Amino acid sequence: RSFRESSIHPLLLQAIETKLQYKEPSPIQRQAIPIGMERRDLIGIAETGSGKTAAFGIPLLHHILSFPPQILDTVAEEGPLALIMAPTRELALQIDVEIGKLLSRQHKVISLAVVGGQSITEQASKLRSGVHVVVGTPGRINDCVEMAYLVLNQCSYIVLDEADRMIDLGFAPQIEQILEAMGGKLKSENESEAYEQERQDLEAQGKVVPRHRLTAMFSATMPPEVERIAKRYLRHPAVVTI
Ligand code: AMP
Repeated sequence: RSFRESSIHPLLLQAIETKLQYKEPSPIQRQAIPIGMERRDLIGIAETGSGKTAAFGIPLLHHILSFPPQILDTVAEEGPLALIMAPTRELALQIDVEIGKLLSRQHKVISLAVVGGQSITEQASKLRSGVHVVVGTPGRINDCVEMAYLVLNQCSYIVLDEADRMIDLGFAPQIEQILEAMGGKLKSENESEAYEQERQDLEAQGKVVPRHRLTAMFSATMPPEVERIAKRYLRHPAVVTI
């Protein structure tokens, strides 16, 4: 399958072809992009260098660009629509740059890196002015959630990149806290009646509440702790191995 055959948003296709100049999808992209476009949870077993940033970045941005403009305008109060977590500052910054390449001024979609070693008050002020995608490390993202600089009220798309490395670095508690802030297990099950009732009540108050969270997890290996988080927080995931 080519990029064109995946019914990707035209503005994204344009960026892939003219800015990034990718001629055809890499094997992980060929498999993972259609799964993301179908809004299915995903476990990707892949190494860095396989093109996995675009494999999760393209469906994530397609998802955001599919929202009506009035939702894209709510991010200053209700928070970002998608979150990407990576184990290190360097990787998070690199992902943010790659996401930026897929965007153009026409999109009016803003991505922000939220990592340690940089001023948290500066990040808080950028979050307050409204961003659609947050890319960061679990520690700093969790700090921002705890200090209420970052609200996840309408965040319905999360990518856990290099999950095994995040676990090795001791980030399991932060990852779980963030997933719980995004509705935990409940919100990953759209068949849950209790959640559906809550969702409809909030919608009646004019809030936009996603039907369920989409979770994509990438990892080079599947140690028991990663397996446990996947079992708890992913809903019928498709598994792709490269
Ligand atoms: P990643 O695994 O996401 O870090 O990507 C590794 C490198 O491959 C990056 O420099 C990407 O820009 C490049 N890349 C990703 N996808 C493609 C593609 N479909 N065609 C050519 N280069 C690509």
